[in-house]
Amino acid sequence: MSSASAALRRQFPILTPGLAYLDSAASAQMPVPVLDAVRTFETSQRANVKRGVHRLAEAATEAYAQARGRVAAYLSVPADEIVFTGGTTASINLVAHAFGSLLKPGDEIVLSGLEHHANLVPWQMLAARGGITLRFLPITGDGRIDLSALPATLGPRTKLVTLAHVSNVTGAIVDTAPVVAAAKAVGARVLLDGAQRVPHGPVDIGALGIDFYAFSGHKLFAPHGVGVLWAKAELLDAMPPFMGGGEMIARVELSGSTWAKGPAKFEAGTPPIGAAVGMGAACDWLSGLPWAAIAAEESRLTQRLLDGLQATPGVRILGPSGLQGRAPVVSFDLAGAHPHDVCQIMDSKGVALRGGHHCAQPLHGRFDLAGSTRASLALYSDDSDVDRFFEGLAEARRVLL
Ligand code: PMP
Repeated sequence: MSSASAALRRQFPILTPGLAYLDSAASAQMPVPVLDAVRTFETSQRANVKRGVHRLAEAATEAYAQARGRVAAYLSVPADEIVFTGGTTASINLVAHAFGSLLKPGDEIVLSGLEHHANLVPWQMLAARGGITLRFLPITGDGRIDLSALPATLGPRTKLVTLAHVSNVTGAIVDTAPVVAAAKAVGARVLLDGAQRVPHGPVDIGALGIDFYAFSGHKLFAPHGVGVLWAKAELLDAMPPFMGGGEMIARVELSGSTWAKGPAKFEAGTPPIGAAVGMGAACDWLSGLPWAAIAAEESRLTQRLLDGLQATPGVRILGPSGLQGRAPVVSFDLAGAHPHDVCQIMDSKGVALRGGHHCAQPLHGRFDLAGSTRASLALYSDDSDVDRFFEGLAEARRVLL
């Protein structure tokens, strides 16, 4: 391990020797600058935002606005297009309600067979209210969205294409250009679920040509309970609010109300202020990191995982076998062993993994499996984690097979 990556890892106090934390796709750990920012907010600026005129209320309002700006900078978008939500799930539900209410009977939404339930169930609930049809892009044998099916799946009725930017099971990164081109050709909007993309470097959202982007703070080295929906300003204007309450209004009368403009329209009630401040600090910290070197290191470690798993009898990898178009998320099946048993034995060796369907049951059905075991890396992962992973896997095989 280089001294630069060792220094990076030292910024995560929870990563003590003896722990191989390979569950970052579920929740990534928080570095000192994020922990410090949250502590500073909670100990010297804590108050509610917007409503107050006292100095703490002003400091909190300023910190919350700064957080929005920092998140926007990480995504190369204007700050007034960033809506703070509770997480990816909340962001997608917001779009399903607000954008969904603009749809007409007969309209269609295109998804894929590998979506996290957060990008499937809200659309099923919308379709169940009547009139909207869901169509699915199939999944290839190596766990990618089959983009060759785009022409046959999209049509004049398609109003939205909503896909995982990176699969939380197979690690496959979707090639957005053909998706955006196909959607544009029929006048459809595009939503990307970026939950598993944003922890692996800044995303230039403007360059993608999409309309909505959703992700969670807790996978981005920030606190739980906060997330982001980025939407084009014209869509924030066009969509009705999802939740009603304080802060999202322009004027309220007993007979009815009018709405605030911009992100405020979609941020009813007190937002997760401290968590948003932490997310802003995370984005600020991430923006200054050497991403080419980090990506190279994540790829090298992913290759080690893939090589070692491919050489292990009984192991089947659910995803691309090489590094091309692949994030550092590696799920596998160990024939004859239940993923929960594998995870439990590996935990006893200090390896934190995730076992189960990873909120992607249809995808596991595609592979004729009920679940899988997943190792996911982050910028703090190193060779000791991978060494420990293979020691744990050897122990799991010895005990279970
Ligand atoms: N989409 C993807 C691709 C995910 O990996 C996750 C989290 N596992 C989610 C959505 C849901 O995120 P959250 O639970 O933070 O709302």
